[in-house]
Amino acid sequence: MKRIIFVQFDQLNRNFGALKFSDPASDLVVLIESDRMRTGRKWHKQRLHFLASSARHFAHELQSAGYEVKYLKSASTISGLNQIKKESGISEVVSASPNSFQLLKNLSDIGVNFVDSDFFLTPKALFQDWASAQKTFTMENFYRMQRERLDILMHGGKPVGGKWNFDADNRLPAPKDHDWGPTLEFEFDEIDREVIAELPETAWGNLNQKYWATNRVDALKQLDNFLEFHFSDFGPYEDAMPASSWAGHHSLLSPYLNNGLLHPIEVLSAAQARFEAGGIPISSYEGFVRQIIGWREYVNGMYWYLGPEYRNGNGLNANLELAPLFNNHELTKMNCVSTIIGDIAERGWTHHIPRLMVLSNLALLAGVEPIKFLDWMREVFVDAAEWVMVPNVIGMGTHADNGVLMTKPYAAGGAYISKMGQYCKNCVYDPKQRTGADACPFTTLYWDFLDRHLETFKKNHRMFQQISGLKRLKDLPEVRNRAKEVISSLENGTL
Ligand code: SF4
Repeated sequence: MKRIIFVQFDQLNRNFGALKFSDPASDLVVLIESDRMRTGRKWHKQRLHFLASSARHFAHELQSAGYEVKYLKSASTISGLNQIKKESGISEVVSASPNSFQLLKNLSDIGVNFVDSDFFLTPKALFQDWASAQKTFTMENFYRMQRERLDILMHGGKPVGGKWNFDADNRLPAPKDHDWGPTLEFEFDEIDREVIAELPETAWGNLNQKYWATNRVDALKQLDNFLEFHFSDFGPYEDAMPASSWAGHHSLLSPYLNNGLLHPIEVLSAAQARFEAGGIPISSYEGFVRQIIGWREYVNGMYWYLGPEYRNGNGLNANLELAPLFNNHELTKMNCVSTIIGDIAERGWTHHIPRLMVLSNLALLAGVEPIKFLDWMREVFVDAAEWVMVPNVIGMGTHADNGVLMTKPYAAGGAYISKMGQYCKNCVYDPKQRTGADACPFTTLYWDFLDRHLETFKKNHRMFQQISGLKRLKDLPEVRNRAKEVISSLENGTL
């Protein structure tokens, strides 16, 4: 009997999900571009283009492979599916289980049959078992289980290289005069231009260059570019924030892993083959494996484990509006923030340390309402899926979950940004100063944050050092006053 195979925009792969079980001779493949997806928020142009163009390219590929494909623009996913059911007379809809609570509910409500999603390496039930048995959800414990379970970087039951992680080797700051290697740009084709012409006026940011591949062939070129030119130095500099390179040695593969153009298994296999061919330090290989089988799987597993209400957490009662600088990098003199927001406006991307230790850190220290910051993070990043942003922002970035995910907040003053980045030299502020007109806002807000939340953190043994430092401050009244000025300037776009 004929079925509708509904392919979601983050499941663009013939070998996985519902398409794995499909029959080109009898099934109707459906992709839906909803108005909600296009205009529901002030999405980044790069993001909208990447998602829609990838889906349209994929629809064409399936047609060339002999599938009957319907690519529909509709008010919502559900109204589109109902329309196709009515027009085609087909009642059975099959899809891979979706990647968000909301879509799971919406599709369940209209009776879609789900096949288990295999776009991740960890079955949901397995993760639930692991999480249920934990006292604290330490990623390192999960990662070690993954190494053993998937038999990656293991030999005779022991970690290859004699240790589980090489983090100590992988925290180097950005060096001077380093060759950061090539980044790829792609040519806009006819489908891309069609998508661009239809972008809503509300879309944010720039779309001057095609930084993101929109088909599998080009996504594989990005994988090759990483393995050839960046893999070797990926580990040591994965936390570095260079001024002269927007990408550093990062793989730039997250958009493709998140929309299905690439699968984690093939990325891991390619990285393993390159490592085994020689010339790649184990610190780089292990750091990359940790991202793919550790962090990515852990964050996805925690999203489902923590439930749909987790995204509304606000454990630190942070109620500041999102500052205007987040949408306009010219509204701040902070060189780190201005550069990073400018990079995001251009490409819809910056790596995990600017996301966590600059942008999220600023939201945390200033007390921006977590859900507002979460919404912004979802809107501006090309790879921002609900499942990744909710734990990353609510748990890691803003500590809004009362420490469920992380036992202490990722709070840092200007010293960390100064050490790992190359922004401070050209900044009007001084990372060492916490008071006065030229005090680094991060440094001021860091101490003020600890002071404001002293009651919350004073019994946390992992915060002992920071709280001891706070107690030794002789100029706390001046810090508090300067913090008030900083917050006020942040709100009115003059910081
Ligand atoms: Fe950022 Fe402070 Fe450094 Fe300026 S001094 S670049 S605001 S960390």
